[in-house]
Amino acid sequence: MDWIDLRSDTLTLPTEKMRAAMAAAELGDDVYGEDPTINRLQELAAARMGKEAALFVASGTMGNLAAVLAHCGRGDEVIMGNNAHTYIYEAGGISALGGVHPFTIPNQPDGTLLKHDIKHAIREDNPHFPISKLLILENTHNRCGGVSLSRAYMLEAAQIAREGGLAIHLDGARIFNAAVDHHVPVVDLVDMVDSVTFCLSKGLCAPVGSVLCSSQEFIEKAHRVRKQLGGGMRQAGVLAAAGIVALEEMVDRLGEDHQRAEALAAGLREVPGLLLDKRSPNTNMVYVEIEGNQGVTAQECAAKLKEKGILVGITGSRHFRMVCHYWIRDEHIPAVLNAFKNALSK
Ligand SMILES: *Cc1c(COP(=O)(O)O)cnc(C)c1O
Repeated sequence: MDWIDLRSDTLTLPTEKMRAAMAAAELGDDVYGEDPTINRLQELAAARMGKEAALFVASGTMGNLAAVLAHCGRGDEVIMGNNAHTYIYEAGGISALGGVHPFTIPNQPDGTLLKHDIKHAIREDNPHFPISKLLILENTHNRCGGVSLSRAYMLEAAQIAREGGLAIHLDGARIFNAAVDHHVPVVDLVDMVDSVTFCLSKGLCAPVGSVLCSSQEFIEKAHRVRKQLGGGMRQAGVLAAAGIVALEEMVDRLGEDHQRAEALAAGLREVPGLLLDKRSPNTNMVYVEIEGNQGVTAQECAAKLKEKGILVGITGSRHFRMVCHYWIRDEHIPAVLNAFKNALSK
């Protein structure tokens, strides 16, 4: 079956051009620093982000973990949102492997942290307390529905962190979606942070990999951490080759995914029995709920959609997430809307 897979943009398969680039990639041992394709990807990524250096890592989780471990020592504290990916979905790695203490403050529905909350989370120097070291921001914000943070907000949050002596890491897994959403070059959303991780393997379609970008000195530190984490990969240029295509060719088209998310949301709004989340859609994500009086669970509805070749993310007993990406085409939208109408008609 030709699946319409809306569960996540992580499900994107590599493009033909990526497969060709992977097959033709010039390779070497990256632990020796000798993989020309990895080196090229790292230079390209650093230039895109306006940072001195970059490090190819196996995943977004590894990029965030290597960054936190390079910023912090044991007993240091990281301030982040209570819905941060790093707090919820990264298996507690910063604590388990780094002895780093998380201090969470509420994420607002728009993905921001209140400036007041950041300020009050920064601890004074007192031997009873952990040492406040780092603020983590997330853009776009996954758990807050794919919402993007503006440059103005990022600057304000960063300023408060700096005044409190903190460094700033950005979990920019989907930072290019944020840049496209705000119609700004990506540099405008990362020039105020010390380090940023972004994913090649989500909307950008590469099969594997993320990149951590920062100063030369910081990346040297993170490089050692990556080795400790078992992330020293050898001829990983086969992966980086796809990453180069991702950076060069897949960024500018992300707006199409956002437009399809708009079209999908507009259609779902008209389907009887469905309620679009108040803040949806954002960037490439759409969240909807089945109305309580329908007597249908998300599981049951998803099973009916699956019979029509449509896969959706189940995010609650009556809740769905749908993510638009490269492999979702215009003609899929009416098919999804019809399938929902049929699944909910009694
Ligand atoms: C996907 C994601 C990550 C982690 O990426 P993996 O490659 O799945 O480890 C980190 N942060 C955010 C916001 C994400 O959406």
